[in-house]
Amino acid sequence: MTQALQDTPVQYIKGIGPKRAKSLARLGINTLWDALLYLPFRYEDRRVSGRISDLRYDTFQAVSGRVLSAEVKETPRGKMKIFELVITDGSGVLTGKWFNQPYLKRLFRVGDRVILSGVVKRNSYWGVGYEMHSPEFEVLEDEDTEQIHSSRIVPVYRSTGGLTTRQLRSMMYAILSHALNGLSEYMPEEILSRYRLPPLREAIQNIHFPSDRVSLEELNELRSPYHQRLAFDELFFLQAGLAALRRKMTLRRGVSSDAPGRLRSALLGMLPFSLTGAQKRVVDEIIEDMRRPYPMNRLLQGDVGSGKTVVALLAMLQAVESGYQAALMAPTEILAEQHYLNIHPLLKELGLRVALLTGSTRQRPLDEISSGQTNIVVGTHALIQGEVKFKHLGLVVIDEQHRFGVLQRAALRRKGANPDVLVMTATPIPRTLSLTMYGDLNYSVIDELPPNRRPIVTKHFRHTERGLLRGVLRGELRKGRQVYMVYPAIEDSERFDLKSVLAGEREVRAEFPEYRVGVLHGRMRPQEREETMRAFKEGEIDILVCTTVVEVGVDVPNASVMVIEHAERFGLAQLHQLRGRVGRGPYQSYCFLVTYGRLTEEARRRVEVMVKYQDGFRIAEEDFRLRGPGELFGTKQSGMPDLKVADLLRHSRLLAAARQEAFKLVEEDGELRNWPLLRQMVERFWKGKVEIFRTS
Ligand code: ADP
Ligand code: MG
Repeated sequence: MTQALQDTPVQYIKGIGPKRAKSLARLGINTLWDALLYLPFRYEDRRVSGRISDLRYDTFQAVSGRVLSAEVKETPRGKMKIFELVITDGSGVLTGKWFNQPYLKRLFRVGDRVILSGVVKRNSYWGVGYEMHSPEFEVLEDEDTEQIHSSRIVPVYRSTGGLTTRQLRSMMYAILSHALNGLSEYMPEEILSRYRLPPLREAIQNIHFPSDRVSLEELNELRSPYHQRLAFDELFFLQAGLAALRRKMTLRRGVSSDAPGRLRSALLGMLPFSLTGAQKRVVDEIIEDMRRPYPMNRLLQGDVGSGKTVVALLAMLQAVESGYQAALMAPTEILAEQHYLNIHPLLKELGLRVALLTGSTRQRPLDEISSGQTNIVVGTHALIQGEVKFKHLGLVVIDEQHRFGVLQRAALRRKGANPDVLVMTATPIPRTLSLTMYGDLNYSVIDELPPNRRPIVTKHFRHTERGLLRGVLRGELRKGRQVYMVYPAIEDSERFDLKSVLAGEREVRAEFPEYRVGVLHGRMRPQEREETMRAFKEGEIDILVCTTVVEVGVDVPNASVMVIEHAERFGLAQLHQLRGRVGRGPYQSYCFLVTYGRLTEEARRRVEVMVKYQDGFRIAEEDFRLRGPGELFGTKQSGMPDLKVADLLRHSRLLAAARQEAFKLVEEDGELRNWPLLRQMVERFWKGKVEIFRTS
């Protein structure tokens, strides 16, 4: 049974002693099941090609024959020992040569049947005839044993010190011979046939030791039907876990924020604009969800500047009017402070009490929060930490935290209450990735920008074109617009090769003596930061020299120019977020990417993408393509279970299929009682991360 394989240590296999088991453990292989999922990273074609007389020079081929002679020779003057193995199949003669490995001689006897595979060379003495240098070899014991290292498509595994690829391959073969019979199919037949996926045993067998009929090309691109099958399984386990988590949530009782919505109407009356159609739609979706008596779990996605904050505010008012508290959690202190500054006056007018709570808030309004006097708390992670107690928390809004994934939310829940949760993100995440990070959530999207937004003109400047840039900036400043200048470091000493905020400040003051310059970075005291932000917002500062602290969320509509120094150092997601700080008002806005030195190919691509595209989703796809999913908010950083076979980028279609099937199955049979093996697999996959089924 599959279960047993997952618990059986590899040492159980004959020929694998403690020492080899240790080497295998270094590769992450502890149990038989681990071994089955340790896939070859490439395959070599060592299928026997035909007769020796048909060999072609300079190609990789394999032939079989009987040993004519096996002798160690010495080179005339040098001290090199060459082991020469001559074989024949009746049609011709082939010499295998190994340099300085005389001990190989012991392995061969005249008359043995052997297979040699390697690149075919001309015989170096005669210029005709065939030889191979250090070919792969296999001595055939008797006619019908299966070949492991040659005469077939041979798997190549990544190995580490202590194990040759050949040894590893032999061990894998032994493990497979033993374990394959114990492997029971866990996936419902119906699902397999719908996607024409092969049965489990066939898949595992062929991934490791493929039959000759499998396409070598598909194997090497890891997209054979057998790879597809295992990738599907992994994505299925992932999605089934998410489906079960979602189901588990809906079984819990949560709060029901079912107030009529007077506060919301009041706020809408105070705003200088009316909501876009998309904003109205998502507000309806959210409120409907909040009215229900079980916990809301919703992702709100909308590109930078699409107006998520006001949606969050409306949702919080719904909770407050229903008698609960609401919390708005931001990723940085600056953003929390800014949210606080923005919403404070509005809420005060509505007669509500708001508190700010970050790691550096000195006066901590903990008593007011725990007594329920405070209606809304704005803060950072600090607000869900131990000492903070809410009287009756009804809604948590999590703003712009790409890493606040499935597991972090589960942790939030373990704090006791089951508040409604709204996760907001502008970070354009490709759909495949959000199906993973946020795959347990319901989904709302703002797919429309507020009216009269003009595309942001994006240009690339080399730092040698500074004069040109200065002219453009002066033009905008003269019109009364404000400018952000972002630098990658705070002080010069941090990185000698990067321009810093402090150096930038000196330069900017010298270049624009007639304008007011402000400085903002993460090492300033919170009060100073707040004061600078306020001054910038109110137009008392013309040029804000800063670090990426302004990356997310900061909202100053009159600022129309974003200059990013050392743009080559920033990733696409970050550049897009930074650019999103402008273009928030009615003015034509600009983003200038200033680069230094010669650009790497990838940096050049990033700048190109930024100049060409505005749409966050498009940029996310490009980012995904340039960097791969692992590095982006991949499953690794989020603490999610590892994907060993599947790849979110390459297998996006499989992911959609796996998601559909998994959610369907969990809907029909919430705890997979009819599929005990499958349930075990899913539980294993999520083990140690989060408990996905109600009970086990
Ligand atoms: P984000 O989605 O990036 O968080 P914000 O909520 O910060 O966007 O909104 C960006 C800007 O657009 C803010 O200045 C906000 O006041 C403004 N805004 C939001 N909704 C509308 C709307 N319907 N019409 C006009 N301006 C809006
Ligand atoms: Mg925002």
